[in-house]
Amino acid sequence: MSGLEKIHSQIRKCRKCRLWKTRKNAVPGEGNPHAKIMFIGQAPGRREDETGRPFVGRAGKLLDELLEKNRVKRKDVFITSVIKCFPPGNRIPGSDELESCRPYIEKQVSLIRPKTIFLLGNVAINTIIGYAGRLDEVHGKKLTKDGITYIPTYHPAAALRFPWIKKKLDMDFKKHLSQ
Ligand code: URA
Repeated sequence: MSGLEKIHSQIRKCRKCRLWKTRKNAVPGEGNPHAKIMFIGQAPGRREDETGRPFVGRAGKLLDELLEKNRVKRKDVFITSVIKCFPPGNRIPGSDELESCRPYIEKQVSLIRPKTIFLLGNVAINTIIGYAGRLDEVHGKKLTKDGITYIPTYHPAAALRFPWIKKKLDMDFKKHLSQ
């Protein structure tokens, strides 16, 4: 078993916070274990909870479209979220849940060693780079830390609700993927 597979099997059995009691499946993430590009979202939704796979619901379909549009194959990247279990009612993860789950995303990043990480939405941005200001002010702007380029941008679920957000998400993907 590779290091990444070991982490993923730990995640599937994890009971470090209360979310294990209500989840159907933990969602470790999937993709190329040596991906150059990684996408980190907020938390699994209902479809992800049912299937154990990341970004397979409506927001996932939009992510797929954006990847395809920029000629990026889903199997070549790595897709996950900062929280690996579905928060009931799709609520925002609690800070205790985020802290319990943090070692998993840190381990995944250190094993995959991507060059670029897209941070999808405020929760991922705040958790990974500690930025808690307005997303409008930082979206699409590169930030390099410890040899990794971070691209903070909007969450595809927000883009499904607001056309102006979809436009910006689209621009950020185009700017940083099609090169
Ligand atoms: N939203 C996320 O942030 N992650 C998923 O896996 C699905 C929807």
